[in-house]
Amino acid sequence: MTNRKQLHDEQQIIDFIYSGNATFTLVSIKTGTRFTYKVARAKGDSADRPWFAMVLTSGDNESGYSYAGCIFPPKNHVVVSTKKSKVRADAPSMKGLSWLLNRLHVGNGPLDKVEFWHEGKCGACGRKLTVPESIDLGLGPVCAGRAHAPSPKPVPKPEPKQAETATEASEDTQAPVVVAEPVAQDSTVDIYEQMGLGL
Ligand SMILES: [Zn+2]
Repeated sequence: MTNRKQLHDEQQIIDFIYSGNATFTLVSIKTGTRFTYKVARAKGDSADRPWFAMVLTSGDNESGYSYAGCIFPPKNHVVVSTKKSKVRADAPSMKGLSWLLNRLHVGNGPLDKVEFWHEGKCGACGRKLTVPESIDLGLGPVCAGRAHAPSPKPVPKPEPKQAETATEASEDTQAPVVVAEPVAQDSTVDIYEQMGLGL
Protein backbone atom coordinates (compact mmCIF):
# COMPACT_ATOMS: atom_id res chain seq x y z
CA MET A 1 0.00 0.00 0.00
CA THR A 2 1.25 3.44 -0.78
CA ASN A 3 0.62 6.52 1.26
CA ARG A 4 0.46 8.97 -1.56
CA LYS A 5 -1.32 12.20 -0.83
CA GLN A 6 -2.50 15.24 -2.72
CA LEU A 7 -0.92 18.52 -1.66
CA HIS A 8 -2.84 21.75 -2.15
CA ASP A 9 -0.82 24.52 -0.56
CA GLU A 10 1.47 26.10 -3.14
CA GLN A 11 4.30 26.82 -0.73
CA GLN A 12 4.13 23.27 0.55
CA ILE A 13 4.31 22.01 -3.02
CA ILE A 14 7.33 24.20 -3.77
CA ASP A 15 9.06 23.05 -0.60
CA PHE A 16 8.29 19.44 -1.41
CA ILE A 17 9.57 19.62 -4.98
CA TYR A 18 12.88 21.07 -3.81
CA SER A 19 13.27 18.88 -0.72
CA GLY A 20 16.15 17.03 -2.34
CA ASN A 21 14.73 13.68 -3.38
CA ALA A 22 11.11 14.25 -4.25
CA THR A 23 8.83 11.85 -6.10
CA PHE A 24 5.50 13.24 -7.20
CA THR A 25 2.76 12.90 -9.77
CA LEU A 26 1.10 15.67 -11.70
CA VAL A 27 -2.37 15.07 -13.06
CA SER A 28 -4.04 17.31 -15.61
CA ILE A 29 -7.58 17.81 -14.38
CA LYS A 30 -8.83 18.51 -17.89
CA THR A 31 -7.36 15.52 -19.67
CA GLY A 32 -6.46 13.14 -16.85
CA THR A 33 -2.95 12.87 -18.26
CA ARG A 34 -0.47 12.08 -15.53
CA PHE A 35 3.26 12.02 -15.20
CA THR A 36 5.35 10.88 -12.26
CA TYR A 37 8.55 12.79 -11.65
CA LYS A 38 11.58 12.65 -9.48
CA VAL A 39 13.39 15.87 -8.69
CA ALA A 40 16.66 15.26 -6.89
CA ARG A 41 19.30 17.76 -5.90
CA ALA A 42 22.84 17.36 -7.15
CA LYS A 43 25.23 16.23 -4.44
CA GLY A 44 27.75 18.62 -3.00
CA ASP A 45 27.96 21.77 -0.93
CA SER A 46 27.65 24.43 -3.57
CA ALA A 47 24.63 26.61 -2.91
CA ASP A 48 23.88 26.94 -6.61
CA ARG A 49 24.08 23.27 -7.53
CA PRO A 50 21.10 22.24 -9.63
CA TRP A 51 18.23 19.87 -9.19
CA PHE A 52 17.90 16.98 -11.64
CA ALA A 53 14.51 16.32 -13.20
CA MET A 54 13.51 12.78 -14.14
CA VAL A 55 10.27 11.31 -15.37
CA LEU A 56 8.93 7.82 -14.97
CA THR A 57 8.93 6.20 -18.38
CA SER A 58 8.61 2.50 -17.53
CA GLY A 59 7.60 0.42 -14.54
CA ASP A 60 7.57 2.02 -11.13
CA ASN A 61 10.99 1.43 -9.68
CA GLU A 62 14.13 3.54 -9.65
CA SER A 63 15.33 2.22 -12.99
CA GLY A 64 12.13 3.33 -14.66
CA TYR A 65 13.05 7.00 -14.51
CA SER A 66 14.59 8.81 -17.45
CA TYR A 67 16.79 11.84 -16.89
CA ALA A 68 15.38 14.94 -18.53
CA GLY A 69 17.42 17.92 -17.46
CA CYS A 70 18.40 20.39 -14.76
CA ILE A 71 16.50 23.03 -12.84
CA PHE A 72 18.42 26.08 -11.67
CA PRO A 73 16.28 28.09 -9.29
CA PRO A 74 16.27 30.95 -8.59
CA LYS A 75 17.90 31.69 -11.96
CA ASN A 76 15.07 30.03 -13.83
CA HIS A 77 12.11 27.82 -13.17
CA VAL A 78 12.10 25.46 -16.10
CA VAL A 79 13.75 22.18 -16.99
CA VAL A 80 16.88 22.82 -19.05
CA SER A 81 18.12 20.05 -21.31
CA THR A 82 21.71 18.89 -20.98
CA LYS A 83 23.87 16.55 -23.04
CA LYS A 84 22.67 13.49 -21.14
CA SER A 85 18.97 14.26 -21.34
CA LYS A 86 16.95 11.24 -22.42
CA VAL A 87 13.66 13.10 -22.49
CA ARG A 88 13.49 16.39 -24.32
CA ALA A 89 12.57 19.61 -22.58
CA ASP A 90 9.74 20.02 -25.07
CA ALA A 91 8.23 16.57 -24.41
CA PRO A 92 4.77 16.90 -22.80
CA SER A 93 6.04 15.55 -19.48
CA MET A 94 8.72 18.22 -19.25
CA LYS A 95 6.52 20.96 -20.59
CA GLY A 96 4.11 20.03 -17.81
CA LEU A 97 6.81 20.17 -15.15
CA SER A 98 8.25 23.44 -16.44
CA TRP A 99 4.77 24.88 -16.54
CA LEU A 100 4.22 23.88 -12.92
CA LEU A 101 7.55 25.27 -11.72
CA ASN A 102 6.98 28.55 -13.45
CA ARG A 103 3.38 28.69 -12.33
CA LEU A 104 4.40 28.14 -8.70
CA HIS A 105 7.11 30.76 -9.06
CA VAL A 106 4.89 33.53 -10.33
CA GLY A 107 1.84 32.52 -8.28
CA ASN A 108 -1.38 33.33 -10.07
CA GLY A 109 -4.42 32.31 -8.13
CA PRO A 110 -5.21 28.77 -7.08
CA LEU A 111 -3.50 25.86 -8.72
CA ASP A 112 -6.68 24.56 -10.31
CA LYS A 113 -5.55 22.96 -13.56
CA VAL A 114 -3.51 20.14 -12.06
CA GLU A 115 -3.43 17.87 -9.09
CA PHE A 116 -0.15 17.45 -7.26
CA TRP A 117 0.41 14.15 -5.44
CA HIS A 118 3.42 13.06 -3.49
CA GLU A 119 4.04 9.36 -3.82
CA GLY A 120 4.20 8.40 -0.17
CA LYS A 121 7.96 8.84 0.13
CA CYS A 122 9.85 11.43 2.13
CA GLY A 123 10.70 14.28 -0.24
CA ALA A 124 14.15 14.64 1.26
CA CYS A 125 15.44 11.10 1.78
CA GLY A 126 13.00 8.96 -0.21
CA ARG A 127 12.02 6.65 2.65
CA LYS A 128 8.44 5.44 2.78
CA LEU A 129 6.15 7.59 4.88
CA THR A 130 4.07 5.73 7.43
CA VAL A 131 2.88 8.19 10.08
CA PRO A 132 -0.19 10.30 9.20
CA GLU A 133 1.53 13.58 10.15
CA SER A 134 4.46 12.69 7.89
CA ILE A 135 2.14 11.77 5.04
CA ASP A 136 0.43 15.17 5.39
CA LEU A 137 3.80 16.90 5.20
CA GLY A 138 5.49 14.73 2.62
CA LEU A 139 8.50 14.53 4.93
CA GLY A 140 9.51 11.92 7.47
CA PRO A 141 9.98 12.96 11.12
CA VAL A 142 13.76 13.11 10.90
CA CYS A 143 13.85 15.18 7.72
CA ALA A 144 11.00 17.42 8.87
CA GLY A 145 12.96 18.09 12.04
CA ARG A 146 15.92 19.45 10.15
CA ALA A 147 16.14 23.22 10.06
CA HIS A 148 14.96 23.50 6.48
CA ALA A 149 14.96 21.51 3.34
CA PRO A 150 17.33 22.93 0.72
CA SER A 151 15.64 26.00 -0.59
CA PRO A 152 15.70 27.42 -4.09
CA LYS A 153 15.62 30.95 -2.71
CA PRO A 154 18.17 33.45 -3.97
CA VAL A 155 21.61 33.01 -2.47
CA PRO A 156 23.46 36.29 -1.99
CA LYS A 157 26.62 36.20 -4.03
CA PRO A 158 29.83 37.23 -2.30
CA GLU A 159 31.35 40.44 -3.56
CA PRO A 160 33.89 39.56 -6.24
CA LYS A 161 37.41 40.30 -5.12
CA GLN A 162 39.38 42.94 -6.93
CA ALA A 163 41.78 40.41 -8.40
CA GLU A 164 39.02 38.30 -9.87
CA THR A 165 37.20 39.50 -12.90
CA ALA A 166 33.72 38.15 -12.70
CA THR A 167 32.69 38.16 -16.32
CA GLU A 168 29.73 36.93 -18.24
CA ALA A 169 31.99 34.41 -19.88
CA SER A 170 32.97 32.75 -16.63
CA GLU A 171 29.32 32.31 -15.79
CA ASP A 172 28.65 30.86 -19.19
CA THR A 173 31.13 28.07 -18.67
CA GLN A 174 28.93 26.77 -15.86
CA ALA A 175 25.76 27.01 -17.85
CA PRO A 176 24.17 23.76 -18.97
CA VAL A 177 24.73 22.68 -22.51
CA VAL A 178 21.46 23.13 -24.28
CA VAL A 179 20.97 20.41 -26.81
CA ALA A 180 20.13 22.04 -30.07
CA GLU A 181 19.94 19.05 -32.35
CA PRO A 182 17.00 16.70 -31.98
CA VAL A 183 17.68 13.79 -29.68
CA ALA A 184 16.58 10.36 -30.74
CA GLN A 185 13.25 9.84 -29.06
CA ASP A 186 12.37 6.64 -27.35
CA SER A 187 8.95 5.17 -27.95
CA THR A 188 7.72 6.18 -24.50
CA VAL A 189 8.20 9.82 -25.31
CA ASP A 190 6.25 9.31 -28.48
CA ILE A 191 3.38 7.94 -26.46
CA TYR A 192 3.51 10.96 -24.17
CA GLU A 193 3.48 13.26 -27.12
CA GLN A 194 0.45 11.54 -28.52
CA MET A 195 -1.29 11.85 -25.18
CA GLY A 196 -0.67 15.58 -24.91
CA LEU A 197 -0.85 17.30 -21.59
CA GLY A 198 -3.66 19.63 -22.52
CA LEU A 199 -2.68 22.23 -19.97
ZN1 LIG B 1 13.33 11.72 5.10
